[in-house]
Amino acid sequence: MINEKGSISIQTEDIFPIIKKWLYSDKDIFLRELVSNAADAISKLKKLADIGEAKLPEDYKPRITVSVNKEKGTLAITDNGIGMTDEEVKKYINQIAFSGAKDFIEKYKDKTDDQQIIGHFGLGFYSAFMVSSKVRIDTLSYQEGQSAVAWESKGDTEYTMEGSDKKDVGTTVTLFIADDSKEFLDTWKVREILRKYFAFLQYEIYLVDENEKKDDKKDKEEKPVNNTSPLWLKNPKDCTDEEYRNFYHEVFTDFNDPLFWIHINMDYPFNMKGIIYFPKLKHEFDTIEGKIKLFYNQVFVADNIKEVIPEFLMLLKGCLDCPDLPLNVSRSFLQNEGYAEKISAHITKKVADKLQLMFKKDRENYEKYWDDINPFIKFGCMKEPKFFERVKNILIYKTINGKYLTQEEYLEQNKGSNKKIYYVNDEKQQAQYVRMFKENGMDAVILNTLIDNHFISFMEVENKDVKFLRVDADIIDNMKDENSKEKDNKKLQEKLEKIIREATGKDKLKVKVEGLKSESTPAVILLSEESRRFKEMSRTFGTSISTADLFPDEETLVLNSNNPIVKKIADLYEEENRKEDALTAANHIYDLALLNHRQLEPDAMVKFIERSNSLLMKLL
Ligand code: ADP
Repeated sequence: MINEKGSISIQTEDIFPIIKKWLYSDKDIFLRELVSNAADAISKLKKLADIGEAKLPEDYKPRITVSVNKEKGTLAITDNGIGMTDEEVKKYINQIAFSGAKDFIEKYKDKTDDQQIIGHFGLGFYSAFMVSSKVRIDTLSYQEGQSAVAWESKGDTEYTMEGSDKKDVGTTVTLFIADDSKEFLDTWKVREILRKYFAFLQYEIYLVDENEKKDDKKDKEEKPVNNTSPLWLKNPKDCTDEEYRNFYHEVFTDFNDPLFWIHINMDYPFNMKGIIYFPKLKHEFDTIEGKIKLFYNQVFVADNIKEVIPEFLMLLKGCLDCPDLPLNVSRSFLQNEGYAEKISAHITKKVADKLQLMFKKDRENYEKYWDDINPFIKFGCMKEPKFFERVKNILIYKTINGKYLTQEEYLEQNKGSNKKIYYVNDEKQQAQYVRMFKENGMDAVILNTLIDNHFISFMEVENKDVKFLRVDADIIDNMKDENSKEKDNKKLQEKLEKIIREATGKDKLKVKVEGLKSESTPAVILLSEESRRFKEMSRTFGTSISTADLFPDEETLVLNSNNPIVKKIADLYEEENRKEDALTAANHIYDLALLNHRQLEPDAMVKFIERSNSLLMKLL
């Protein structure tokens, strides 16, 4: 029986204080490291058994037990894996594990600001000292004729080794939890960490509260904390919709059903399995919070690692298990090796294929989902040219008539629009224009999410001959009544321009008189698409130059010569004692047109209300 004391030969004397202090912010990872070691030990034993090098008991069932004993102040991790001989303990724990930890510290000690690195890439067995005042290992090797050994260290460089009374093959690592880490004696907390990292570990993990009374335990069915076979490992052919939905609810604690999903199963150039879900949006685009959970052999690594997951996929939810990716190396390596590109290329294709299939085979549902998925698709198109290439023919637009049309279909159905796509971005504000469009038998599309501004510009760059115009842009040509007489209008134009300018006091206001098809509309304001976009852009970027100087007001008031009120104003203005009334009415239709276009300035609003009230008084 061995019984020895030793000293781990090191140069960096202060390695343990560094481990403790430096990893302070993410202490949980010690448990990830130790349970991962336990799982590795089981895998090794199983592999040896497969090749006939080890013999397993008939009823062998891989098992990891995490036991909390608050009274004793210990947390123990037990596995029935390969175990270690005394020589192996010396080699693996005193030398390899230690030098591993040392290398790790050397490598990352200047990068303390990047907590994420630390979170992903742990430092193995020695992370146990982050939370322990003493660590003990009891282990019995699978090899015949070996006796169990115990190893202990207090987190300095001294260790002791002696015989252990451990009877079963495998290893128990017992942590004597330090005073500043007592939270790890709370079973609830330990369960939470286990669920975070090992919800899908392939071996069952049991959490045991050793202080729980025996009688209480009896009634409870012993249940593992994890699900050893996550859905992504199952053959897609054998998965039911219900299983996909349940898996989504479970993993993302989202009670809403996902819209649809894509099962990923890739072998080349590396192995990757997973399920990507299209979530149902609750609010506007800016509040979408996707989550792609990355796993390494069923062990959770992190959410949304940008070096691995392409940006546009981060709006989705899903799990990706990449057992071939060297996730324990640095992030810059992952980036340089182009993993993100390879993953992106594969998933991009899968997502696009799925959308194409839905568009062709199930257009009804595709249209139904469009309101939810369009921000994602538009974002994807702008971020990823390959994605755009694959889906550009199935981008659809919802129209003011409640239909969904592709660009091609829209242009085909609105041939008169001359490759122009009219759009509404605020249905309420632009209701009057929408009505006019409908009265004129014209169609417009609704582009009202935050991303649409950018998307419109993007589409114009991609389709040079297509132009997007908001319904209140200079579109009057399409609304003109071909029968109204040009000559009559010219006279009326001069007269009404004078009246309007006098009424509003705006000498430079652009006024146009046109016979519009829809008689019921006295006047509309139009604003050139360019100047409106320019204004919006400068507002977004908060430029200090006054845009009013650069772009004089391009608003044009179009008066409808087919409208009875407009005609009446022109006549009334000539009549004796009625000039004031004509001016009041002119002012009022100008304000009404403005109100349909945008909000009134505060002063104008006050005047508008006063005028409305006095008009009402005349009625009574
Ligand atoms: P790594 O797991 O990255 O090799 P660790 O510091 O976690 O580094 O562990 C060092 C070595 O100690 C492992 O490679 C393994 O040989 C041995 N070891 C650690 N934990 C166990 C265990 N539970 N059972 C058997 N061997 C173990």
